[in-house]
Amino acid sequence: MDQCRADYLTNPQICPAFAFTRSVLMRQGASYANAMLSYAGSRTAVSHTVIGTGATPGINGIIGNNIRSYDEEKSPIFPLAYNGSPRHSMDMFNLLTPTLADVMDLDMQNLPIVISMSPYGRAALGMGGHGAAYMEGRSDNDIVLKLSRDLGLPYTNPTYFSLPDYLTHSDANPIRIDDWLLANYGIDISSEPWTEHTIIKDNSPFAPKHGNVIVGPQGVFPDGETFSFSYAAVTSDVEEPSSTVQLWSEAAGYKSNTYFEEAMYTPFYTLWATDMLLMAIQNEGVGQDAITDLVYYNFKCLDKLGHRYGVNSPELYTYMYTVDYCLRKIKGFLDRKIGAGRYTMVVTADHGGHNAYDGRILYNRNLFKAIEDKFGSGIIQNNPDNGDPFDDMIYLNRNDLPEDTTLDHVARFVEDEFGDYVYRAFTIDEIFR
Ligand SMILES: [Zn+2]
Repeated sequence: MDQCRADYLTNPQICPAFAFTRSVLMRQGASYANAMLSYAGSRTAVSHTVIGTGATPGINGIIGNNIRSYDEEKSPIFPLAYNGSPRHSMDMFNLLTPTLADVMDLDMQNLPIVISMSPYGRAALGMGGHGAAYMEGRSDNDIVLKLSRDLGLPYTNPTYFSLPDYLTHSDANPIRIDDWLLANYGIDISSEPWTEHTIIKDNSPFAPKHGNVIVGPQGVFPDGETFSFSYAAVTSDVEEPSSTVQLWSEAAGYKSNTYFEEAMYTPFYTLWATDMLLMAIQNEGVGQDAITDLVYYNFKCLDKLGHRYGVNSPELYTYMYTVDYCLRKIKGFLDRKIGAGRYTMVVTADHGGHNAYDGRILYNRNLFKAIEDKFGSGIIQNNPDNGDPFDDMIYLNRNDLPEDTTLDHVARFVEDEFGDYVYRAFTIDEIFR
């Protein structure tokens, strides 16, 4: 549950939205109040790789969403973590340690079914792992997919991972987000907005019972204040994306398209994504034999809403009802298909969130200026003001540093000058020590 603060589950003002999670998962299961993921820098790739590997970023190598590769040929500029260049290849070359899935596969001759899905590739990869890239020739292509908001479709790199036929869109198998939601929920996302009064009926094949109704809080916030909102679920002035590109290839020409992006800020996206997960669990036969399988799933949209509307917004509060419903749906499905007591379901957040209403990562332009004033102009390679990825990481032209100046000097300078904002600056040597 991405960006799901612990107080969403414990604060009596908010928690009615998570009624099932609290009353069934937390009360009937074990609840670990001091469970902790050890990493700094709340970035999608970082948090999910810590979950997948159990290793801290300095060991697993994933220290940000954007990492400068050591292999200048392969990736001369700042690639999205794992994705390499081009951006959407879903390549694992930056991940230095195995995930639990990698190790299970190796240990049990690829017999475990491994599934990892998220709207974001960098989350699915961090949890799922290397697929066929691990111990080359000895690992198989696991089902590691991004539920692409650019396409409204599952998407992957077939070199390392597999996209099963039932998750491939066609007229005979209309699984694209808009087609799926219309057929199974009666929602036309091209015209229907998400409002605080939206009532959804789940007629999907995976529903606890057909016609299940998902209802939000009907316009009353926990403190009694009322609210109203209405958001479109597609970007109407953007052309619809192709519904054929589902595999990465240089020729396929994957292009970013924001048509379905807005759906991620509504409950609609999560309903579709959860159904894609359950479809895979069903078709792969997860839990049907004596070999332990491993399935990861990421409720990414909590994070999306938190960034855009705020961590205590009515939008997020209303949206939580959908997440709670989906958790109930997943558990009900597993109970029916696998059997209660024959599987373990673990629910965790990857990080919390604070109120940054504009959704921006906070950084201080003065920081960049001060470093260049002190150590030389042009010394910083990645300047966010030029649109370069930042991720709390500053890349310096080491060769241009003044004589007798080390990265350590720069780090201590940042701590001294910006102590009000910067608790600690680490050099690359400290990170990978
Ligand atoms: Zn996150």
